[in-house]
Amino acid sequence: MPELPEVETIVRDLRPSLIGRLFGRTRAIRKDIIHGAAEPIDTVLPGRRIENITRRAKRIVFELDGPTRMVVHLGMSGRLLLMPTRRAVAKHTHLRVAIRGAGLELRFIDPRRFGGVWLVSEKEGPTVGRTLGPLGPEPLDLSPARFARLLRRRRQIKALLLDQRMIAGLGNIYCDEALHAAQVHPVTAAETLSVSEVKRLLRAIKSTLNKAIRLNGSTMADYRRANGDPGSFQNYHRVYQRAGKPCKKCGTQIERITVAGRSSFFCPACQRLRV
Ligand SMILES: [Zn+2]
Repeated sequence: MPELPEVETIVRDLRPSLIGRLFGRTRAIRKDIIHGAAEPIDTVLPGRRIENITRRAKRIVFELDGPTRMVVHLGMSGRLLLMPTRRAVAKHTHLRVAIRGAGLELRFIDPRRFGGVWLVSEKEGPTVGRTLGPLGPEPLDLSPARFARLLRRRRQIKALLLDQRMIAGLGNIYCDEALHAAQVHPVTAAETLSVSEVKRLLRAIKSTLNKAIRLNGSTMADYRRANGDPGSFQNYHRVYQRAGKPCKKCGTQIERITVAGRSSFFCPACQRLRV
């Protein structure tokens, strides 16, 4: 599933080609992936200027010159690709939006259809919260004091980090990688972390996300950049999807357990559970 670094990569890929351009002919092939529109998307988008493209958590936000914003969520398997209009249309392409005068179009492709496109009012503000559910703060903007306040809970640290209402943008990959980098066991009760562990964990979250953004995200299966290329941070994973392989820090075998219903990978030596 695309997480913060993958979505940030797509936003950075799209900005130079699209800001200032106008949307053109819009074709919704599967209308059930489009939400929140009072009017059909093929009448809302054509002629709208793209003022900016931003990211909020795992959502791609197209700020337009009218009162409507287009928000794309990639769900589990979604791709948002920018390609020449004449290119063959791939299976599971649900939406095509032409870019006027550019010979290009945006295509939203999503085999599993957990993602979608939302047309939301500008009044919803930058969090785009009311339509798609509330979001906690962005991890890259978190101060140590606010992070420490969020962690004053008995919940397992990984379950808390995955909860988008607490912190928005982290998913399974970056939780596991950050917890390993900070040497914190995924089921540790959040409130039992010491002041120095909390600081170390926030530093690990930020440095893991920033490195992943520099490497254009992690391609495990479906994720692609806007031009169709894979990311490359998967080559630097230390624990994620590495059960049975040696820890890159200490050589101990990486283990897999289930936390909050998700597979979780950790090193039992680097990430000891306190009793
Ligand atoms: Zn280790």
